[in-house]
Amino acid sequence: MNIPKVKLLIGGEFVESETTQWRDVINPATQAVLAHVPMATPTEVSAAVSSARRAFASWRKTPIGTRARIFLKYQQLIREHMAELAAILTAEQGKTLADAEGDIFRGLEVVEHAANIGTLQLGEYAQNVAGGVDTHTVLQPLGVCAGITPFNFPAMIPLWMFPMAIACGNTFVLKPSEQDPMVTMRLVELALEAGIPAGVLNVVHGGEEVVNALCDHPDIKAVSFVGSTRVGTHVYNRASLAGKRAQCMLGAKNHAVVLPDANREQTLNQLIGAAFGAAGQRCMATSVAVLVGEAQQWLDELLSRAQTLKVGAGINNPDLGPLISPAAKARVENLIAEGVAEGATLRLDGRGVTVSGYPDGNFVGPTVLSDVTTEMSVYRQEIFGPVLVVLCAATLDEAIELVNANPNGNGVALFTQSGAAARHFQENIDVGQVGINVPIPVPVPLFSFTGSRASKLGDLGPYGKQVVAFYTQTQTVTCRWFDDAASVGRVNTTISL
Ligand code: NAD
Repeated sequence: MNIPKVKLLIGGEFVESETTQWRDVINPATQAVLAHVPMATPTEVSAAVSSARRAFASWRKTPIGTRARIFLKYQQLIREHMAELAAILTAEQGKTLADAEGDIFRGLEVVEHAANIGTLQLGEYAQNVAGGVDTHTVLQPLGVCAGITPFNFPAMIPLWMFPMAIACGNTFVLKPSEQDPMVTMRLVELALEAGIPAGVLNVVHGGEEVVNALCDHPDIKAVSFVGSTRVGTHVYNRASLAGKRAQCMLGAKNHAVVLPDANREQTLNQLIGAAFGAAGQRCMATSVAVLVGEAQQWLDELLSRAQTLKVGAGINNPDLGPLISPAAKARVENLIAEGVAEGATLRLDGRGVTVSGYPDGNFVGPTVLSDVTTEMSVYRQEIFGPVLVVLCAATLDEAIELVNANPNGNGVALFTQSGAAARHFQENIDVGQVGINVPIPVPVPLFSFTGSRASKLGDLGPYGKQVVAFYTQTQTVTCRWFDDAASVGRVNTTISL
């Protein structure tokens, strides 16, 4: 069978890598090899950066409206190709077709924003900062920016990055996840079709060596990274050491705190969707439930709802699909076993789940562990699978203390009917994304994605207003004009009055 090779994009051309190192892109439901992806050579990485550097000379001077209009066309193309994109995404990543469309749609919203960011690119102006002296500021593009993305949102996260960077006047080198680069490449093809000029967007593939080359390259001015805390910390340190701006959105352990006055029906439904949807492979998945007081009695009902969820190949739109790889499945299963060995109670075991017609899929079913303590590895580590660990707290303050003591600060949710409790929670919780009766509170692109403590390095987040600050530098211009002819003119006018 002729297995396609994923191309690099350099200088507007899709080219085959000359590397000798390739890895397979594998369907997680079937283990079918879908494509081979190259580990780009150092020469290819340099060529991509040089192409972006050359394109910057004219792209930075392209009118704001012209740049933005490309994204107006791009959002239309993404809409027209939604079903095709979702099918590619499901085949290589495993998530359900419905989730795949959600993945693309959340990226599409950023593209829509990129088509409309002119007002965020305005500078400031002050007249007479000294006698006859005026100052204004200009938000200038930085130059070549790079983006490194994870496997779990192969459409949304690349779209968090390159549209806003490019709309701000930068050029870009993207390094997609080597585990599922195909939907990203289709999105890149559509971006070129929408009118992104040659060299403005480039793509290289690879792993550690390519990422390190991007962090070190002197012509790259800023690096955006989304992925695990371990890799992202390395990227942040390495890119910063090389004098670049860096924004790194990292791992998570998201808690849902449930108060007994919450709407029981809504809360339980939302909780199981947030814990097990996308097989728990969301950075905003709810992986810890903290049941407060009498809400502890809701556990049995939560279990019976979790048991009704259907596991299957994403293409058949079950509730949850497979994990990304056999290694990810083995890791999740080992963590479940470790939790049991450390004293947690296994209330629902998703190991060994079988899916008819898909004997080789990386499936793990919904799993619930109760009696979990903060010392256990299932609590300390990000499991990144369909595993919910349940802890108990006597009061809201005890729950807040627990959440704040966890090193991660990506997302958190509170379920309650009490406005006063919600306000107290919001004010005292040290987490980036807070949901009140909203389990996965990912901000829309009018805002920016954020995170606190170990979940984020760098002060400015992806998309929204913050990323315009990240992808531009402020130039201040202070002017005094000496124009003898004009002053004569003013004298004459005064006389004639
Ligand atoms: P990962 O850190 O393994 O990989 C991310 C990127 O880094 C990939 O492009 C990969 O090729 C590259 N990479 C991998 N190992 C590397 C190394 N040793 N040196 C340099 N580069 C390397 O992450 P993943 O498994 O693809 O994604 C899952 C993780 O991403 C989870 O921890 C999840 O919480 C996190 N995530 C965070 C957010 C957020 O916004 N905070 C969003 C999505 C995913």
